[in-house]
Amino acid sequence: MPILVMKFGGTSVANIDRIMRASKRVALEVANGYDVIVVVSAMSGKTNELVGWVNETSPLYDAREYDAVTASGENVTAGLMALRLQEMDIPARSWQGWQVPVQTTSAHANARIEAIPTQNIMDRFAAGMKVAVVAGFQGVSTEGRITTLGRGGSDTTAVAFAAAFGAERCDIYTDVDGVYTTDPRIVRKARKLDRIAFEEMLELASLGAKVLQTRSVELAMRFGVKLRVLSSFEEPSDNAGTLVCAEEDIMESNVVAGVAYSRDEAKMTLISVADRPGIAAAIFGPLAAAGVNVDMIVQNISEEGRTDMTFSCPMDQVMRAQKAMEDAKADASINFHDLVVDEGVAKVSIVGIGMRSHAGVAAKMFAVLRDEGVNIKVITTSEIKISVLIDRKYMELAVQALHDAFDLDKAS
Ligand code: ADP
Ligand code: ASP
Ligand code: MG
Repeated sequence: MPILVMKFGGTSVANIDRIMRASKRVALEVANGYDVIVVVSAMSGKTNELVGWVNETSPLYDAREYDAVTASGENVTAGLMALRLQEMDIPARSWQGWQVPVQTTSAHANARIEAIPTQNIMDRFAAGMKVAVVAGFQGVSTEGRITTLGRGGSDTTAVAFAAAFGAERCDIYTDVDGVYTTDPRIVRKARKLDRIAFEEMLELASLGAKVLQTRSVELAMRFGVKLRVLSSFEEPSDNAGTLVCAEEDIMESNVVAGVAYSRDEAKMTLISVADRPGIAAAIFGPLAAAGVNVDMIVQNISEEGRTDMTFSCPMDQVMRAQKAMEDAKADASINFHDLVVDEGVAKVSIVGIGMRSHAGVAAKMFAVLRDEGVNIKVITTSEIKISVLIDRKYMELAVQALHDAFDLDKAS
């Protein structure tokens, strides 16, 4: 039997009614002749609640226990979905990550999948099981501890299963009917894309478009998984949603494919560090060791052998970053006069493969922001994206203005 992977996000399994609705979708694909691997998220809001409890109990928590707590949300929905399918006379069984086992690295709270043995589930399919319901977002480390794959990680579970089992397709069911030119909740005129290239989706995801977790796109690209994003609330149809595919499979596209934002960023500046060989390593080594995901970095020109070093990181890692810097100062590996934290920034980015061959895109972006009176604090670019760090209060304005200026509401 061909295998299909169907992933249901938090809103698609938010309550028993929604689980019933999702189960009907699964039943349709079983009737179409597939053996189905269903990957479920926790009910919407559940993971946030669990993370909140962890933070309340232990602000600088041990990530192993964070995983023990946060992985539990998916266990509930996996069991409920299997029960519902059984009620519909479809042979189904739930699987937690450790039961498969989904083998991961030991990077708790942000683990990577290393292997998914298929034997276990394939034997069950051979024996008549029609649906394996897998708890997304979780796995098990070589030490035998429960791990999680980072926020939004169920997408990655789904794509990894699709790759491991050679699935015909991986359908990601969510609360929007596809990938848009930007978040449709922010820009009303955002346009749904029928297709988007892996590279563009990868950038959009890593720059904050949470419709797919970055790692899921990476895996789909690497293993050639046919990846589709679609709504669990709309009637089924063959060409629903957005297909994430190779660049060659897209006929036409705009220079800029989309605008992404990341709201919860923080900017930190170490004032007056010694400008000497090894200073960057002395700063960013301890940050990495503390699990801080540093994003943008700027080093100022130096005066009298001293310089300022600015970097950005997710807002929920500020405390960790501060502690790492204070500790490094205490053990004399770095010296700085002050550590200034700006917790009121956001990152806005434009992405498009067309930028490779078009000059002037950055200049236009900066002019649009100037016309809106938005001050740019940090800029980074790559071949197919430009990102700016700005005051959070201007984030939505900037996204809107860029979407308009690059005519993203119109197909090329
Ligand atoms: P799920 O719980 O199904 O995994 P998520 O909340 O993780 O859903 O992702 C879907 C959300 O991603 C949408 O509700 C939308 O607000 C947001 N989003 C951000 N950027 C985009 C985009 N470019 N296209 C579609 N959705 C986007
Ligand atoms: N429940 C997890 C989260 O909210 C994983 C997921 O939904 O993809 O991040
Ligand atoms: Mg998600």
